[in-house]
Amino acid sequence: MPILDEKLGDIYDEVLRRNPGEDEFHQAVREVLDSLGPVVAKHPEYTDAAVIRRLCEPERQIIFRVPWVDDSGAVRINRGFRVEFNSALGPYKGGLRFHPTVYLGIVKFLGFEQIFKNSLTGMPIGGGKGGSDFDPKGRSDGEVMRFCQAFMTELYRHIGEHTDVPAGDIGVGGREIGYLFGQYKRITNRYESGVLTGKGLTWGGSQVRTEATGYGTVFFVEEMLKVRGDSFDGKKVVVSGSGNVAIYAAEKVRQLGGTVIACSDSNGYVVDEHGIDLDLLKEVKEKRRARISTYAETRSGARYVEGGSVWDVPCDIALPCATQNELNGRDAAVLIDNGCAIVAEGANMPCTPDAVRLFAEAGVLFAPGKAANAGGVATSALEMQQNASRDSWSFDHTERRLADIMHGIHDRCLEAADRYGKPGNYLAGANIAGFIQVADAMLALGVI
Ligand code: NDP
Repeated sequence: MPILDEKLGDIYDEVLRRNPGEDEFHQAVREVLDSLGPVVAKHPEYTDAAVIRRLCEPERQIIFRVPWVDDSGAVRINRGFRVEFNSALGPYKGGLRFHPTVYLGIVKFLGFEQIFKNSLTGMPIGGGKGGSDFDPKGRSDGEVMRFCQAFMTELYRHIGEHTDVPAGDIGVGGREIGYLFGQYKRITNRYESGVLTGKGLTWGGSQVRTEATGYGTVFFVEEMLKVRGDSFDGKKVVVSGSGNVAIYAAEKVRQLGGTVIACSDSNGYVVDEHGIDLDLLKEVKEKRRARISTYAETRSGARYVEGGSVWDVPCDIALPCATQNELNGRDAAVLIDNGCAIVAEGANMPCTPDAVRLFAEAGVLFAPGKAANAGGVATSALEMQQNASRDSWSFDHTERRLADIMHGIHDRCLEAADRYGKPGNYLAGANIAGFIQVADAMLALGVI
């Protein structure tokens, strides 16, 4: 790890002390602080007004009990979270994650990342995140509905279109957002479309929201390639995961002339040298909610590998789109040996610090999640705009807006990296550009 300057080192020590056992949160804070040395050297006003210290402390953290009844009649108890991290730029905005690994440290890491990501989009949204340790896998629709209703029965008091606007994340897709919105509407007796994003197209949702995170990641990479006079044409791409982000990243890669030859889930991965068949992948994962092994059972020529690492498959471009810390130093070394030239994070913090360091040393271009996957939240903000004006835009128009936003984020990262002496470093550029906009707003709003 690089050595932090004294002021930033003190802040990091305080974060460790005040938030014990929250490893992912520590990691996310450290990654941002590592980039801020040149910024605090040039702008002492940020440390003088304790802007970074304040940024590291969520404005509000809500933890609640979620009791619900399963199909056998047994009462189940889960834990719900909403961390409202920073509202200097707008209402808190960030997804809900339903996964058994969710605890406060995960929600805080995601909420912290979200502040900078949302800032990078240039849209008026603050940062927050939430979720539960509920595992939707293997649960019936009825169980998922009752859980979502119980979750919203507490959450509704804390959210609103001008306060806090949740969306989906791992384990929370269109089905869950529907049940959550239904319960919010029932309790409040208000059709407040702007309170949640990721809604269905017939009840206030936006075109392209489903595709946005994956498409946006690929638009970002397209810009990275363009700067170097290159394109996706003929490139071999490996995507990890096979959920929302992975599927639509794969779809956009194919549209731009690349071939996605492998994807995964938490049990294993499939390799399909002819290119992943997206209709089949959607059928298996979105409709049947089955395992990725089912893909290989159905598609001739595809190979399933139980366990192992999808990063062993040689590729030109790697898009980690599954979960945090899924690509470690060992995986990075294999990718580098195999000639991989670009890694862009579709997921949040999927690369470990070791992996990121190895990519930098080897000259592999690296796009951090807070920049590369910001297309999801940006399109959520477009959904809020449409809701506020009771309008509904076409797919093509919304996709063009998304592409423009991603190109803007790409350029903002490069400009900030240049300005602070880290030319070409997307990680430093994303952290610096995301930070400065929030920090300036916090200075303007006073000590609150
Ligand atoms: P989904 O629940 O739709 O999909 C997650 C996918 O990742 C599943 O295929 C899951 O497999 C797989 N996965 C989970 N853990 C592992 C693991 N340890 N190894 C391999 N695969 C694994 O979630 P999303 O696609 O929505 O989210 C993926 C990532 O993108 C997350 O980091 C999320 O925070 C981030 N993100 C999502 C946005 C969105 O708009 N949805 C916006 C910005 C970021 P399995 O079914 O086996 O669990």
